Amino acid sequence: LLKPQVTVQEIQVLPEDSLRPQSLAEYLGQTELKQILAIAVGAAKVRGEPLDHLLLYGPPGLGKTTLSLILAQEMGQHCHITSGPSLERPRDIVGLLVNLAAGDILFVDEIHRLPRVTEETLYSAMEDFRVDVTVGKGASARTRSLTLPKFTLVGATTRVGALSSPLRDRFGLVQRLRFYTVPELAHIITRTAQLLTIPITPAGAETIAQRSRGTPRIANRLLKRVRDYAQVQNAPIVTPELAGIALELLAVDPQGLDGVDRTLLSILIEQFQGGPAGLDTLAAMTGEDPQTIEDVYEPYLMQMGYLQRTPRGRVALAPAWVHLGRQPPEQQLP
Ligand code: ADP
Repeated sequence: LLKPQVTVQEIQVLPEDSLRPQSLAEYLGQTELKQILAIAVGAAKVRGEPLDHLLLYGPPGLGKTTLSLILAQEMGQHCHITSGPSLERPRDIVGLLVNLAAGDILFVDEIHRLPRVTEETLYSAMEDFRVDVTVGKGASARTRSLTLPKFTLVGATTRVGALSSPLRDRFGLVQRLRFYTVPELAHIITRTAQLLTIPITPAGAETIAQRSRGTPRIANRLLKRVRDYAQVQNAPIVTPELAGIALELLAVDPQGLDGVDRTLLSILIEQFQGGPAGLDTLAAMTGEDPQTIEDVYEPYLMQMGYLQRTPRGRVALAPAWVHLGRQPPEQQLP
């Protein structure tokens, strides 16, 4: 059998692995999504087939990678992790595909950043479990068709709109992850605190939860910073007061906004009387990348009702003015 020249990407050991929930039951929040996936897993198992290809979208840190690992666990299979930008050439993805076992999950993070040629290789892989590879060079080059094991592609993206429709249409399930509620985040923080043996009161967990931007990754990160502060202060347990002071030192405000969020809003308010202002203008003025503003900052500001995207640009809404201690203009008042 011909072997394509490939280097198999090693499954990365991710820094967050120790905190990841291991089963759907341990995965908190995202109730509807979990129900849908539990049905898909149950049905696939009954039929003895791999799961349908699944596209997960939503802002970073909401648990897309974690969910993919859990799905593999639930199916009794392995999950191989890679990302769009690292699959530069078709042979990079072919190398991964031919080394999968039947039923394995291939998780492709940032799938909207797959180079075009690699993306096209995926089409037949997803649909017919087959890839065409070219062997040899010049006049002796031949195309050979390789049959692949039946695998499941789990794609993750922060921007579902950036996916081409041929790629999007090949996913049997397209699901969005939502921001977590404060009680859900408090639950996640309590669980992480137990794993890291950080003594914390329920109210302390809630204080951190309120400032976590609806995002488990941020919740876990803030908890670790609060632990540092508690240790330096010799505090026996994390209380709301202690968490509040520690997070204030990190410039995280009571609504979870950080320095960049507040700069964005204050530029809109101070320089543009609330807006509209274009994304590129905001990017230039904050020194942030436009995509980062769109994918990371704006979703939470919109969720909080602070910001609106309009055809003419971004607008700061009345609650944003109030949050920054300013009187909203007349036309913004209800
Ligand atoms: P994404 O792939 O969407 O960027 P991850 O899956 O890497 O996010 O999740 C980031 C961190 O948040 C993980 O370390 C995990 O511990 C935690 N996490 C995410 N979702 C949950 C959840 N539903 N319950 C508990 N912890 C979670």
